[in-house]
Amino acid sequence: MGESEQAYVQNAFDTNWIAPLGPHVQEFEEAIESYNGVKSALALNSGTGAIHLAMDLLDVGPGDHVLVQSFTFCGTVNPVIYRGAQAVFIDSERDTWNMDPEALQRAIDDLEDQGKLSSIKAILPVHLYGMPAKMDELMTIAKSYNIPIVEDAAESLGSSYKGKMTGSFGRMGVYSFNGNKIITTSGGGALVSDDQELIDRAFHLSTQARDEAPHYQHSKVGYNYRLSNVLAGIGCGQMKVLDERVGQRRANFDRYIRFFSDWKAKGFRFDVQEQSEDTFCNRWLSALLVDPKDNGGLTRENLRIGMAEDNIECRPLWKPMHMQPVFREVPFYTAEGKVQDGNGKASVCGDLFEKGLCLPSGSNLSSEDWQRIETKLDELLSKALD
Ligand SMILES: *Cc1c(COP(=O)(O)O)cnc(C)c1O
Repeated sequence: MGESEQAYVQNAFDTNWIAPLGPHVQEFEEAIESYNGVKSALALNSGTGAIHLAMDLLDVGPGDHVLVQSFTFCGTVNPVIYRGAQAVFIDSERDTWNMDPEALQRAIDDLEDQGKLSSIKAILPVHLYGMPAKMDELMTIAKSYNIPIVEDAAESLGSSYKGKMTGSFGRMGVYSFNGNKIITTSGGGALVSDDQELIDRAFHLSTQARDEAPHYQHSKVGYNYRLSNVLAGIGCGQMKVLDERVGQRRANFDRYIRFFSDWKAKGFRFDVQEQSEDTFCNRWLSALLVDPKDNGGLTRENLRIGMAEDNIECRPLWKPMHMQPVFREVPFYTAEGKVQDGNGKASVCGDLFEKGLCLPSGSNLSSEDWQRIETKLDELLSKALD
């Protein structure tokens, strides 16, 4: 937390605005709009809920297809399933670890061959770990088929591509303020768009689709997805420290780069570099690739367990959705085409999952924390490389 969050919460109590509406909700929405350069933002109680609303607004339903990045958290894809639609998973490319435009094209071609082009209702790329996806290429493909893009920018608040904030490219964009994100309202999200009419409809749906009438009347099934004024107050305070948090996360990443370059071992890599001045990444999490072939046999699991010995938590990267038991029937496309063999381990994101490890990445790592982390890493690396 920064310095002003508690004052906002106190103000909500003092003014008795303890409801899923109020002045902090409005201020938070305006802060999201101006920071991201979008016309309209709707504060919600989760990022998953924001994606759910986006799917409803695009009329995604049974018989429809939504093309989703496989390398992500389940919150990206679950709303597609809630709507009764068919998800189709798309592999990542190496530069950004995000949706591979070639694999996307393969999936579209395949559905077109089956006469199902018009059933593709949305494309859902993710800016994973804060790294902007290749939006130019993805937008070109989406535009040529007139398929709307919904950007999952849950992890990339503060990241930009060619000077434009992530989440502001697609028909709609989604942010998350869950406890693990770069800034947080403990739980929360937002749906943004330059189309005010879409956000107006999202507002209606998010408040149980209540019609204008003195009594409670409904012509549609809605949702209870609005954000509390108390939590929006936390969000107002957090928006003021967002750039500072981005700076802290980027400093973490730079420090890890320096640490591992001192070791000069090939088996430890940070593949996701900023491609050019076109890309600015918030470095939400610092993720390392550990390749046992080039580092004396140390796997990412060896490293994770080794760090855990000293109570230092590291985590594997997101397990791709196409490898999840719950989604084993969902089709999956790589740049080579549709994967037939079931588990789809031979894919870019399957390989990243096998080798990748998220290192401690908090905005508030102290010099004592760093000393513990680097001492333990030194110990584990020297053991493996000797
Ligand atoms: C956190 C996250 C979400 C979901 O956000 P919630 O606010 O937790 O519902 C969606 N997609 C990605 C990639 C995320 O990291």
